[in-house]
Amino acid sequence: MADPRLRALPSVETLLVALRAAAPGVPHAVAAPAARDAIAAARARIRAGEPAPLLEELVAAAAATASQATRSPLRRVINASGVLLQTNMGRAPLSDRTLAAVAELGVGYTNLELDVDRGERGSRHEHVRAILRQLTGAEDALVVNNNAAAVMMALQVLARGGEVIVSRGQAVEIGGGFRIPDIVAQSGARLVEVGTTNRTYARDYEAAIGDETMAILRVHPSNFRVVGFTAEPSLAELAALEQEHGVPLLDDLGSGCLVDTARFGLPHEPTIQESVAGGASLVFASGDKLLGGPQAGIIAGRAELVARLRAHPLARALRVDKLTIAALLATLASYAEGRECEEIPIWRMLSLPLPGLRRRAQRWATAAGDGARVVEALSLVGGGSLPDQGVPSWVTAIRGAGRETALAAALRAADPPIIARVERGTVLLDPRTVDQRDDQLVAARLRELSGVPPRGGA
Ligand SMILES: *Cc1c(COP(=O)(O)O)cnc(C)c1O
Repeated sequence: MADPRLRALPSVETLLVALRAAAPGVPHAVAAPAARDAIAAARARIRAGEPAPLLEELVAAAAATASQATRSPLRRVINASGVLLQTNMGRAPLSDRTLAAVAELGVGYTNLELDVDRGERGSRHEHVRAILRQLTGAEDALVVNNNAAAVMMALQVLARGGEVIVSRGQAVEIGGGFRIPDIVAQSGARLVEVGTTNRTYARDYEAAIGDETMAILRVHPSNFRVVGFTAEPSLAELAALEQEHGVPLLDDLGSGCLVDTARFGLPHEPTIQESVAGGASLVFASGDKLLGGPQAGIIAGRAELVARLRAHPLARALRVDKLTIAALLATLASYAEGRECEEIPIWRMLSLPLPGLRRRAQRWATAAGDGARVVEALSLVGGGSLPDQGVPSWVTAIRGAGRETALAAALRAADPPIIARVERGTVLLDPRTVDQRDDQLVAARLRELSGVPPRGGA
C-alpha cells in the first residue's frame, strides 16, 4: 500500500540537518516539531493526490513554522484608528525619555529599596512621592498596580464593614470588569446608593450619612455621558459635607489628567490637582490614560489616609515594580519641566498641526488608489476618557463597497499589523496616531492591496 512518493520523503533527521543549515540558531526544541509538522503536512498532501514536495520546500515550510513559534506573541501594531487611548492596544504609548529610563534602570541594579546614604533598607514608595506631591499639590501620594487596585484598596482599608455612599448616576461599569457596585462589595463595604440615575443633590448624600458611613465615593463617568435633565453636586459641595461630617471623600477620576485638556481643543477633563485643591481626601487616577505613562494607580491626598494605605498589607500585594517606578518618574519629569507637549506622545499627537496631517493622509490616499480620498474626521481620545470627544484631523477614507471588513482585515494581516477604523462602510486611516516613521509601511501596504505600482524616484 505504501505510496513510493511517501517513502521518498526525507526522514525527520534529514530534514532537521537541512533546516539547521538554512536556519542556524533555531533551538532543537523548536526545530524538531517544525520538521515533524512539515513532513506530516507533506504526507497528507501526497495522500490527497498532490505531488511530493522538494526538500527545499519542506525546509521553507519548517523554517516558517519555527519562526512563527519563536516570535513573541506580544507584537507592535500600527494604530491608524485615530483613537489615542485604547486598552486593547496598550493605552498610552510611552515617551522616549520614559523608555530610556526603563532601559537604564532595568538593565542593572537600582536603589529600589535601598537608602544609599545610610546603607539601610529604604522604601520603594519613596521615589515617586516628592514629584507627585509637587505636581498634584497633595500632602502625600502612593502608587499601586493600577487604578482599579487603588480604588479597591482604599475602600477595603478605609470602609470595610461600613457603608460607602455613591450617587446612583455613578454606580457604573467603567469597562473591563470594573463595576462600582462589585468593587464596593469585594472590598467588604456596603454600597448606599443615593439620588437618581440622572439627578443627585448634595442633600441626598447628607441624608444618607450615618454612624456606619465610612466614605463618600465620587466616580468620574469616564466612558459615557448623561445629557439633558441632569445634576450632580460639585466637588466643593461634597467637600463641605466632608468638613461637616468628617467622612472621607474619595474621588475616582479614572483618566487623571495633569494638564488642561482645553489647551488641545478638547473639553476640560478634571485634573488631579483640581480635585486635591477642591477638597477630595483621596484622588485616584490611572497612569496609562491621559497621564501618558505606564500602567499604574496613583493615589494622592491627605497624609494621614495615604499613610494608612501605605502601612496596609495590600500595599505590598499591589506594589509596582522598578520598571513602573522608573517609567512613571520619567513621565512625571516631563510635566515638572513643562515639556509634556514635546515629550509625551499623546500630547504631541494632540498638538500635531492640521496641514502636516493632511499631507500624510494624502500620501496614503495616493498609495491606496481609486476609491480613496482625504476627508476631515475626528481623532478620538478613547480609553475611558472624554467619551465621543476628539480633535479635528485629516484622514484617508477608503470606500469599502461592502468589502470594508475584508480591507480592515487585510491591513491587520500586515507585519506589523495596521489597525484602521471602520465607520459607515468606510475604512479610515488617521495619521495622528501613527508615528511618522511608520508612514512608509502604511503606504506600502495600501499600495500592495490596491495594486497601484510605486511611483518612480524617491
Ligand atoms: C479607567 C478607570 C478605572 C480603572 O483604571 P485602571 O488603571 O484601568 O485600573 C477606574 N475608574 C475610572 C473612573 C476609570 O475611568
